[in-house]
Amino acid sequence: MTSNIRGTAKLLGSDFSVTNCVAVQIQVREVYEYQLVLYEYKKISGKFVMMADSTEVISIDMDAVFDPEPDRKYICPICLGVLKDPMQTSCGHRFCHGCISGIVNGRVNVKCPVDNMRIKTGELFEDNAYRREVMSLCVKCNNYRQGCLWTGEWRNLQDHLNICDFIYVRCQYGCGLSLLKQTQNDHEAICERRPVECQDCHIQIAFADLTKHQVLICQNFLVQCAVCGQGGLKRKEISNHTDVNKGDCPETVVPCQYTALGCQHQQKRRNLPEHYKEATDHHVSLLVQHISEQNKHIDRLEKDISQLHIRQEDSEKIIEEQHEYLRFSTETLITIIGIKARNCDI
Ligand SMILES: [Zn+2]
Ligand SMILES: [Zn+2]
Ligand SMILES: [Zn+2]
Ligand SMILES: [Zn+2]
Ligand SMILES: [Zn+2]
Ligand SMILES: [Zn+2]
Ligand SMILES: [Zn+2]
Repeated sequence: MTSNIRGTAKLLGSDFSVTNCVAVQIQVREVYEYQLVLYEYKKISGKFVMMADSTEVISIDMDAVFDPEPDRKYICPICLGVLKDPMQTSCGHRFCHGCISGIVNGRVNVKCPVDNMRIKTGELFEDNAYRREVMSLCVKCNNYRQGCLWTGEWRNLQDHLNICDFIYVRCQYGCGLSLLKQTQNDHEAICERRPVECQDCHIQIAFADLTKHQVLICQNFLVQCAVCGQGGLKRKEISNHTDVNKGDCPETVVPCQYTALGCQHQQKRRNLPEHYKEATDHHVSLLVQHISEQNKHIDRLEKDISQLHIRQEDSEKIIEEQHEYLRFSTETLITIIGIKARNCDI
């Protein structure tokens, strides 16, 4: 912290006095004339730890840099800076509005810091003639140390500062660099974090991450098959290319197509035709064996079906018998009821 700097600074949208930096846990790291780069520190476990993301270039509202040195009559005896909003006392001395107001501040019996004459409230006047003279003093741009060559009347300084290119700004791509505004475009054109488009999958990605993205991740990036060495394949096509069932990679080891019949043979895909030629007899015998097993199976099924038929016929017979019995029982019951009814009538 440099103690000879005073004024207000803007950080993260709020104003604070630079002398309060410690109170808001801010430490000044670099001083560029009137531009400060502030790093926010947070207290963690008793230590101040720099929060990288909260660093921000700020500007500080400072006294102007007068060139040439202003005449002594324009110097405030209290702050020793050039008079700001000059006020004149009844004893004829001039002070900055802020400086003398701080001393008077509603008190009575206030004395002039220069000649000890009593300053009466109501005898302080804005000195507009002096204000005009002071505002006409020649100043340099506050950013002259960064190379700005602008000079002009003090009254025009703020207008210039609003458009001055010699201020520090952050690279918009988040690489963390603070750079002079006038070099911002040159830097951002080559910044490692600038967004570029992957020509293969068309996503936007930081330049520094592009190679890693292409070599390891990009699904459209052309790669070589690690098994057969064939190039020009998109990364997303590799798994289909080497698939044991649907693929076409000649070097991938795949099973014989008669696996289901019992052939245990495995072979690079390109050698399979040879195997089919050599193992024709084996495959035919597997097929014959398979067919005979199928036939046996069919026989078993037919037997099962005929047994089911027999059982079904038996069941139907039993049901028919039950029906017959039920009919007989009903008729008998009706007969008995009829006899009983007649007996009662008699
Ligand atoms: Zn002053
Ligand atoms: Zn005086
Ligand atoms: Zn400038
Ligand atoms: Zn950058
Ligand atoms: Zn890509
Ligand atoms: Zn391959
Ligand atoms: Zn086989």
